[in-house]
Amino acid sequence: MEYEKMLERAYEKMPPIIFEKKRFDVPRARVTIEGNKTVIKNFSEIAQYIRREENHILKFLGRELGAPWRRDGGRVILVGKFGTMTIEKKLSKYVKNYVVCPVCEKPDTQLTRIDRVLVMKCMACGAVSPVPQL
Ligand SMILES: [Zn+2]
Repeated sequence: MEYEKMLERAYEKMPPIIFEKKRFDVPRARVTIEGNKTVIKNFSEIAQYIRREENHILKFLGRELGAPWRRDGGRVILVGKFGTMTIEKKLSKYVKNYVVCPVCEKPDTQLTRIDRVLVMKCMACGAVSPVPQL
């Protein structure tokens, strides 16, 4: 009886977030190889979905793949041949590092600077988490 009350109280104190983990499906990357270059056709769409600056994502991708890149409208052109799987793996690594809160696992976060250091601030649970600096 006492134990049940305790559980109930603990449950009430928990923020509702934990019980409503919503789906966060990053759009599939549409990748084509043109000559010795790789084009991500829907790059802007992906950036908009994960709500991050395109240049920040590209800096990360370029470094991870060791490839120079340039933007071309909503597309991105990387020098080198990379398959869809490679691109999507790197994008999910970006999402894990810079989008999803490590505390509550929700994607409702913002990147912000504290004393010039980039951190991830979670709008859902309030956590401020360190992110890898680029
Ligand atoms: Zn959080």
